[in-house]
Amino acid sequence: MNRKPLPPGATIGLLGGGQLAQMLVHAGNAMGFRFVALDPNPECPAFYAGAEVLAAPYGDRAALAELAKRCDLVTYEFENVEVSGVEFLESRVLVPQGSRLLALSQHRIREKIILQEQGFPVTPFRIVRSVAELSVAYEALGPLMLKTVTGGYDGKGQQKITSAAAVESGFAELSRKTKPPFIAEELVEFERELSVVVARNPAGEIASFPVGENVHEKNILTLTRVPARINPLVEAQALRLAEQVAEVLSLVGVLGLELFLLPDDTLLVNELAPRPHNSGHYTQDACATSQFEQHLRAVAAWPLGATTLHTPVVMLNLIGEQLSGMLEQLDRLPAAAHLHLYHKHEVRAGRKLGHLNFTCDNPARLLETLNSYGIWTPSLLENALS
Ligand code: AMP
Repeated sequence: MNRKPLPPGATIGLLGGGQLAQMLVHAGNAMGFRFVALDPNPECPAFYAGAEVLAAPYGDRAALAELAKRCDLVTYEFENVEVSGVEFLESRVLVPQGSRLLALSQHRIREKIILQEQGFPVTPFRIVRSVAELSVAYEALGPLMLKTVTGGYDGKGQQKITSAAAVESGFAELSRKTKPPFIAEELVEFERELSVVVARNPAGEIASFPVGENVHEKNILTLTRVPARINPLVEAQALRLAEQVAEVLSLVGVLGLELFLLPDDTLLVNELAPRPHNSGHYTQDACATSQFEQHLRAVAAWPLGATTLHTPVVMLNLIGEQLSGMLEQLDRLPAAAHLHLYHKHEVRAGRKLGHLNFTCDNPARLLETLNSYGIWTPSLLENALS
């Protein structure tokens, strides 16, 4: 569907005012847009970027109605917003991303089934409602990653099951947090984790950013390296998959597609996130257009920006105590390091508080620098930058 480009001076509503909203506001200010964010926290990250904040729970109908009234369009920046709230918004204001893709990405089973139906390669899985069904899945698939169907992110709501003896306790552990059904996925022995951020605008124009190679610790993204250490055929295949997903799902905005690369160079889709993605933060300092500007260009029905990579880059998250470790050594911030902080005052283990983009064409030297900070696990850095 062709729409007229949203003109500068228009107001964009943000459902969620976290760090992704903050970075959307930074990019969007330069494009001439104004922002209103709906977030329970009046001093959420988007506030510090200059957005007006409607402080209310995401599902608050009066606040959603107010957001719709004040904005020319609304975009969401995380998946765990209620679909019914987005549907409510859609009846009042333009929500270019729509609620369908959101509903899909919130539900691991529906997401896997749709991807499979459309011919995309996904991790072998079973739906399990009981210990007995989990035993059957274990027999069929071997070691498993048992996941809640909704509400999980950054490794929350996941349970590794690596022996038949652990089936019962694994099921009990996850049931303590959420009710079944769960999804039992084969525990993939991947060679690398990759991701692609892809954008599509309402006119159907599609552009993907270069493939990122991701390293996780405790299931949370630690580092993204671009270019990824993969052969050009795998790079092309990953980009093609992302562009096909964008096309098939009629994406509007950007989407992060997470992939597992197997030792035989085949790719499996792990999951998708219909919004800017942590593994795309490198684009801010290394690409012609950032994923945040690209998302706004897409939802605002502007032509998409160029996705060219100007320089090799390594993005490192600052999680929990890592932030103070970094700030204590700010006096020796390398010239090639670009610091992005989220203005989150409460430091909790596992909480993402900022990130660093190191533009870098010498991984060995970067490894030395990063090790000298003493805040990232040396073996992880060694594996990622060797
Ligand atoms: P997810 O919430 O699905 O993105 O999972 C978070 C992280 O857990 C992934 O990035 C992987 O490192 C790991 N993981 C998730 N699913 C699997 C799987 N089926 N096999 C192996 N590792 C997995």
